[in-house]
Amino acid sequence: MSKPLSDHERKKQISVRGLAGVENVADLKKNFNRHLHFTLVKDRNVSTKRDYYFALAHTVRDHLVGRWIRTQQSYYEKDPKRVYYISLEFYMGRTLQNTMVNLALENACDEATYQLGLDMEELQEMEEDAGLGNGGLGRLAACFLDSMASLGLAAYGYGIRYEFGIFNQKIDNGWQVEEADDWLRYGNPWEKARPEYMRPVHFYGRTEHHPDGVRWVDTQVILALPYDVPVPGYRNNIVNTMRLWSAKAPCDFNLKDFNVGDYIQAVLDRNQAENISRVLYPNDNFFEGKELRLKQEYFVVAATLQDIIRRFKASKFGTREIVRTDFSTLPDKVAIQLNDTHPALAIPELMRILVDDEKLPWEKAWDICVKTCAYTNHTVLPEALERWPLDLFQTLLPRHLEIIFEINRRHMERVSSLYPGDVDRMRRMSLIEEGGQKRVNMAHLCIVGSHAVNGVARIHSDILKATVFKDFYEMDPHKFQNKTNGITPRRWLVMCNPGLAEVIAERIGEDFIRDLDQLQKLRNFVNDEAFIRDVAKVKQENKLKFAVHLEEHYKVKINPNSMFDIQVKRIHEYKRQLLNCLHIITYYNRIKKDPNKQWTPRTIMIGGKAAPGYHTAKMIIRLITAIGEVVNHDPVVGDRLKVIFLENYRVTLAEKAVPAADLSEQISTAGTEASGTGNMKFMLNGALTIGTMDGANVEMAEEAGEDNIFIFGMRVEDVDAMDARGYNASEYYNRLPELKQAIDQIAGGFFSPKQPDLFKDIVNMLMHNDRFKVFADYEDYIKCQEKVNALYKKPKEWTKKAIYNIAGSGKFSSDRTISQYAREIWGVEPTLEKLAAPDDPK
Ligand SMILES: *Cc1c(COP(=O)(O)O)cnc(C)c1O
Repeated sequence: MSKPLSDHERKKQISVRGLAGVENVADLKKNFNRHLHFTLVKDRNVSTKRDYYFALAHTVRDHLVGRWIRTQQSYYEKDPKRVYYISLEFYMGRTLQNTMVNLALENACDEATYQLGLDMEELQEMEEDAGLGNGGLGRLAACFLDSMASLGLAAYGYGIRYEFGIFNQKIDNGWQVEEADDWLRYGNPWEKARPEYMRPVHFYGRTEHHPDGVRWVDTQVILALPYDVPVPGYRNNIVNTMRLWSAKAPCDFNLKDFNVGDYIQAVLDRNQAENISRVLYPNDNFFEGKELRLKQEYFVVAATLQDIIRRFKASKFGTREIVRTDFSTLPDKVAIQLNDTHPALAIPELMRILVDDEKLPWEKAWDICVKTCAYTNHTVLPEALERWPLDLFQTLLPRHLEIIFEINRRHMERVSSLYPGDVDRMRRMSLIEEGGQKRVNMAHLCIVGSHAVNGVARIHSDILKATVFKDFYEMDPHKFQNKTNGITPRRWLVMCNPGLAEVIAERIGEDFIRDLDQLQKLRNFVNDEAFIRDVAKVKQENKLKFAVHLEEHYKVKINPNSMFDIQVKRIHEYKRQLLNCLHIITYYNRIKKDPNKQWTPRTIMIGGKAAPGYHTAKMIIRLITAIGEVVNHDPVVGDRLKVIFLENYRVTLAEKAVPAADLSEQISTAGTEASGTGNMKFMLNGALTIGTMDGANVEMAEEAGEDNIFIFGMRVEDVDAMDARGYNASEYYNRLPELKQAIDQIAGGFFSPKQPDLFKDIVNMLMHNDRFKVFADYEDYIKCQEKVNALYKKPKEWTKKAIYNIAGSGKFSSDRTISQYAREIWGVEPTLEKLAAPDDPK
């Protein structure tokens, strides 16, 4: 028998990680040592693990620089249409390994660090996540950047450089506590500050109407300081830019007019101005109408539009430098995509620039604006829709409010001419909501000001047309589109699951990494014994690795042969972590009732952050941890059922959990989850899904085949019918004894003996006030989980279904999503062309 390979030797055999040529490795080692010396100013006697991480990061970063400069140079020279993806969130996670993957440097760096006596994986663990997002919406923006670069689009991500990203979640006595995410403390090697491109952003003030136009005067000025982050494409030598703005007080802040006497106070007050980019609002799918948030939204938009206009004006034409003055060509040269309504102010801001600054007539400006802008809707939940109070607007952005009024006046004129006398329709479609507190409906502003409006999965786009935006769809059907979300296969397969990527590449080659539809070829291997064995083996290895990680970090013992049943996503009532809890309790009670039966062992893991102000979500976390305390210490149950709360769920933890999952929980009430992208990550990594017919699950079932996914529960039509006749939770409670037992246990303190009424609010909600109808899907969910158990007892059958899932996951590449945005919204063509490779550092 041959000696088993070391971890390092095993990884070297994975060809998708790139070649480790001798020359390459020697250069990397030299540059690593050079950075340790000149950049970190350390020698190996005093270097910390973090120093080594930074030395490696700088070494890898050097390989981006030439490509980055040349890509931007080529855009300047060829002047293609630019795509601007504006988003309040970019949930990037870590950058080092992703850069190595896209530049094919992973094996070479691994070999170089190994020869230097270091473990690359340990160094990678030193990198902070760039947690500039809450969940799916922010992660989508990050996947889109990767795809736009990989498809060779002249694209830019524009956002805010929050000093504090999404909070770190600690679990203390079963409760969530939040800690500030001071991610920049040790510096960020992936950003380049560009103070020379600082831009002014105006707030407050008043408007003056003159014969030659409107002036916005007496404003407060805050500077927007750009930080550029490189976005490398997959092995095509393209490096795009994500530009994040940071707020900076001007040097004369508060010193000119008012506070002349108080110099010290004026300097201290600079903090107030710079608070704009201090912290990410931690709400997922929830609108919080705070002034600081509105400031953030305008800040990113105002700074970005100055960049867009400057780049449009100063372009090269052939070999000649020209200054463009004809704005009618703006839509031929610029596409602006609004990631939800958060950057909706781009619409009135573009109008302000064109009308007030560039002196275009309104009609001309409006035509340009609509042709340039497009809007993506991410949710139909009413509590998530942005509706800003008028008085806030009036104070902070008086000119923009006037512009919105004028947009609305003309919009209302059009509605009334198309539907004469239909005043109720006018009220429904107005950008201004009347009633107690007048508000601006930002979704309506986006629809009216855009040429394309899209939902993020087919079912969601259909719901938009049928319900929330019905009136707008009737008036302008051509605007409405679908763009089913996707994920980048680089981070979510090659990077996080190299073992699976390799066994796939051994069968069908490596082209699937750029063209994920090629995974279809794996259907030829569903009966191939060797392939089934390889896929199952990789899953087992991933499970073992995740189990080791959990045991190290959380001091829990895990049965690696149990089914890893995982639900990770933000904690939200509509995502129904509570339905999962009811299954756990039911399974526990069944084991207790018949302890000698052959129960399928499960390790059920739930992870996710609760918005700090969302009481019910925090109580759901407390319930999960309480159930775990009882279940995990019950000797009758043993290692057949364990309940783990995965602390601090974030991109980096997703990268570890997803490859280890057997079962993916996607159990939202039909009609509430717009798309989901977590569902796609699990599918691509060979987990089976238990889910409702909601969001992209519908299309996943179509692609994998209905036999290869566990679908249960009400469809959207069933939910609508139930809403019409009324949902009555006690009906289910009285009819289903196991449901009653579970609820009685929660209500009676079985999981909280020291505080029997701890969960009374949750029980009350479930019994009397449950918008998401948890009980209505309980029975079918439990039955479906029984089928899951039965299949898990036949490992080969299970793996075959997993292979059908992997083979069917090609549609969910963000490359496909972005190609559709490019062709159907932006009017640009993706290319698989490569730029010539530059001379890398020697
Ligand atoms: C993909 C992802 C999400 C989105 O998950 P859903 O299940 O679609 O809500 C949220 N958070 C992180 C860290 C992710 O990676």
